[in-house]
Amino acid sequence: MTHFPIQKFKDIRTPFYYYDTDLLTATLAAVREAAPEKEFCVHYAIKANTNPKILKLIADKGLGADCVSEGEIRAALDAGFAPEKIAFAGVGKSDVEIEFAIESGIGCFNVESMPELELIDEIATTKDKVVDIAIRVNPNIEAHTHHYITTGLKENKFGIALEMLDDAIAYCRRQPRLNLIGLHFHIGSQITTNEPFALLCERINEITDRYSAQGIEFSSINVGGGLGIDYINPDANPIPDFASYFDAFRKKLNRRPGQTVHFELGRSIVAQCGSLITRVLYVKDGLEKKFVIVDAGMTDLIRPALYQAHHHIQNLTSEAAETDTYDVVGPICESSDCFGTDETLPLTVRGDIFALRSAGAYGEIMASQYNCRRLPGSIIS
Ligand SMILES: *Cc1c(COP(=O)(O)O)cnc(C)c1O
Repeated sequence: MTHFPIQKFKDIRTPFYYYDTDLLTATLAAVREAAPEKEFCVHYAIKANTNPKILKLIADKGLGADCVSEGEIRAALDAGFAPEKIAFAGVGKSDVEIEFAIESGIGCFNVESMPELELIDEIATTKDKVVDIAIRVNPNIEAHTHHYITTGLKENKFGIALEMLDDAIAYCRRQPRLNLIGLHFHIGSQITTNEPFALLCERINEITDRYSAQGIEFSSINVGGGLGIDYINPDANPIPDFASYFDAFRKKLNRRPGQTVHFELGRSIVAQCGSLITRVLYVKDGLEKKFVIVDAGMTDLIRPALYQAHHHIQNLTSEAAETDTYDVVGPICESSDCFGTDETLPLTVRGDIFALRSAGAYGEIMASQYNCRRLPGSIIS
């Protein structure tokens, strides 16, 4: 359970992110314990949080990195991730990004289209390099999550459709610069049951069986990320159930001898260790509602406005036994700038300090300067 040094917070300009590194360390230990086998290679999906101190802690534990831009590859390298453990994914890799990734000696390109394969081949030929390729397959699986964070359905922009996979594989096998090592999948995010992962395994087994029959084997299968966390009770479930998650793959995935299974976990590693700390500016009476106006807004934490996500709101200051019902809103000039409606909270007054919990993933990194606001800082425990 995260302990907040509230006395220290009082003198610091809000809003800012607070990271509990003890929890992050315990989470990383839980990942290691749940997936000890050397055939399981866990990457951290850098996009969830690129705070340099957080990245360094994760890199020090020997995880690989999943990157989606040149900037993320640079951040990963700066933090000490081994280049050969970096995978480069994304539907829109630019020419300079591909050149940079090849020069950096990254481990693998997760390729999402035919024209991208052609461009990588062209650049690799110019540089006289051979590059390792995994083809991202769109498995057409419903992840039962918010539609903005589901990625493995036919209509999504990600990956190559199953029907077009033969052509992509044949193309790689014809090009001496492209070394096809595996297949890559990622079906969505904040997935809270193992059922979609089990379905994914079945789909992967069908695909690898089909290619095995043609004499085509893959040394690497990347199953992506997506394991969800408990946004409602962060203190009851600070660490996701990694044991049952990895077990699902151990049981369902028909891993070939010598094959490595790659995982790309983002949210499940960093979400619970971070909170957005904010101060109450005003408690405002409306005609029908009471509003708590805090100094953090959607510019600091956009998930509620973008995905209708909810972060548990905790008043760190008030010890009042009495409660009231409030809408908790930010200062930005958008109606979607709202962290909670009809929240039951201890009686709240101006100056109280709130923690918006479980904000370590897709929080600080998505902050913007809309309304010419200053970016939230961060404090690491
Ligand atoms: C975003 C992303 C991840 C990480 O997803 P989480 O839900 O944060 O675990 C992994 N792989 C790919 C390809 C992604 O786009």
